[in-house]
Amino acid sequence: MDAEWKTDEEAVLKVIRGADYIFAGHSHHDHIGDVSFIAKRFGSKIIGSRTTTNLALTAGVDKSQLITIHGGEKLDFKDFSLQVIESRHGWRQRKPPRKENEEILKPWEGPIRGKDFVDGGSFLYSFNIGRQRVLHQSTANFIEEKLTGVQPDIALLAVGHDGYNLERVLKTLKPKVVIVQHFDEWRTPFSQGIPQANIKRAERFARDISAIDNSIKVIIPDFFMTYTLE
Ligand SMILES: [Zn+2]
Repeated sequence: MDAEWKTDEEAVLKVIRGADYIFAGHSHHDHIGDVSFIAKRFGSKIIGSRTTTNLALTAGVDKSQLITIHGGEKLDFKDFSLQVIESRHGWRQRKPPRKENEEILKPWEGPIRGKDFVDGGSFLYSFNIGRQRVLHQSTANFIEEKLTGVQPDIALLAVGHDGYNLERVLKTLKPKVVIVQHFDEWRTPFSQGIPQANIKRAERFARDISAIDNSIKVIIPDFFMTYTLE
């Protein structure tokens, strides 16, 4: 983690051919480690916490490409709008390995090391895209009081519910579809696929959802699956 962070540019370009917007739910390296490279390459806008945008500035992303969020914002883009909702990081077995909500408050000359990717606070994005509402959760926890009235059609939920009450959250959100995510092996390249043990975790989570409300359609995606909004 003391080593300088280096994006495997060739591996990224095999799977990313463009990006208008990049939404960062929190700032750990498995979420934003490569977004500065992608933004510089494709002129993408990065939306994220001040930790995310300070890391991007340090990596040389232009200020005009960055939107810093703190929670509660409503943002309007050309084809969609969204609301930012404060959340919190999930930890399996409830043991945060490092200080929670640690932040990076200003950019520096670099280099960026692995350990500089502190969580920076966690945020949900509630997107309005056409007639659909899509909720994105980057890590398996919620601040339950912040979910009142959100009610997405589609909820992208991170696997696991160690830190919140799944039944209460599903009854508040009332999603029609849940797409299970954040169960892939974050330490290995996409080309190695998703290990069986990880898929089993996703299946367990899907079963937990169905046991609470079997009218919810639960999808366990493979890498790069396309989902078309109605
Ligand atoms: Zn994380």
